[in-house]
Amino acid sequence: MNPSPRPRRIVYPGTFDPITLGHEDLVRRAVELFDEVVVAVAAETPKTTIFPLADRVALAESCLAGIPGVRVRPFQGLLLHLLAEEGVRVILRGLRAVSDFEHEFQLASIQRRMDLHVETLFLMTSDAYTFLSSSLVREISRLGGDVGAFVQPVVADALRQRFAPAEEKRIE
Ligand code: ADP
Repeated sequence: MNPSPRPRRIVYPGTFDPITLGHEDLVRRAVELFDEVVVAVAAETPKTTIFPLADRVALAESCLAGIPGVRVRPFQGLLLHLLAEEGVRVILRGLRAVSDFEHEFQLASIQRRMDLHVETLFLMTSDAYTFLSSSLVREISRLGGDVGAFVQPVVADALRQRFAPAEEKRIE
């Protein structure tokens, strides 16, 4: 029995450019642990994105629609402000390899410095997705490769459209 009457909720922030099966796996595992997982798609990111915010949100919504207890939303500005707005104090992040650790450790430490009540929870990637990143998927797709094993069909279609040769996009 859960002694706390408060719902247990967690925010999963990221760029999701685009959402992959690795992200989705993390969400599926998190909903087993929390009542609600809020997938927060960042409007402002140091990365140059290939999809605008609205598309990144729509693709995440479409991929996660079948999972109860998941909500997708965009967010702008500081993650801490989003946490306050949502009334959530736990952040979900994924760790794939040692190479993720340094960056994630820095992020988690700074969030803590800014607000002591905030905790970052890390889930390790599932074996099948250790190698998988949005950047790899973008690169394969840009070069005309098949990304069907790494993303849902709706995302593969969006990537195909995004990187379609100019002559295919041109209206004759
Ligand atoms: P950000 O720009 O915030 O890193 P991403 O969309 O690239 O946004 O990633 C969001 C989170 O999801 C990060 O914590 C990242 O480590 C995690 N993640 C990405 N791909 C995977 C994967 N294949 N397995 C587990 N975690 C992943």
